[in-house]
Amino acid sequence: MRSCDHINPINEIIPASDYVCSECVKIDSTWVHLRTCQSCGVTLCCDSSPNQHMHKHCKLENHPVISSAEPGENWLFCFVDSEKTEYE
Ligand SMILES: [Zn+2]
Ligand SMILES: [Zn+2]
Ligand SMILES: [Zn+2]
Repeated sequence: MRSCDHINPINEIIPASDYVCSECVKIDSTWVHLRTCQSCGVTLCCDSSPNQHMHKHCKLENHPVISSAEPGENWLFCFVDSEKTEYE
C-alpha cells in the first residue's frame, strides 16, 4: 500500500465496531453509508449522509484516516490529503 504519510503507517485496518452511526441514532436521524475512523475506531456516517458525522469527527479530533465500513468495500481515505487507497 503506497499513499500519503497518514495512510502509509497503517498496517491493520480497524474494523467497524457497529453498523449504525451512533450520532445519528442520538438525534433520530438516518445515514447513507458508514465509515470507521482509523485513529479511534468510531463508526459514523459518510459525506453523502445529511449529517456528515465522520467528516465533523475527523476535523474536530484531527483524525485523518477513515475506512469504508460497508461490506465489500476495501478502501481508506485521508481527509488531509484527499487521498483514497484501495487495499486487498
Ligand atoms: Zn494523508
Ligand atoms: Zn451520523
Ligand atoms: Zn476518530
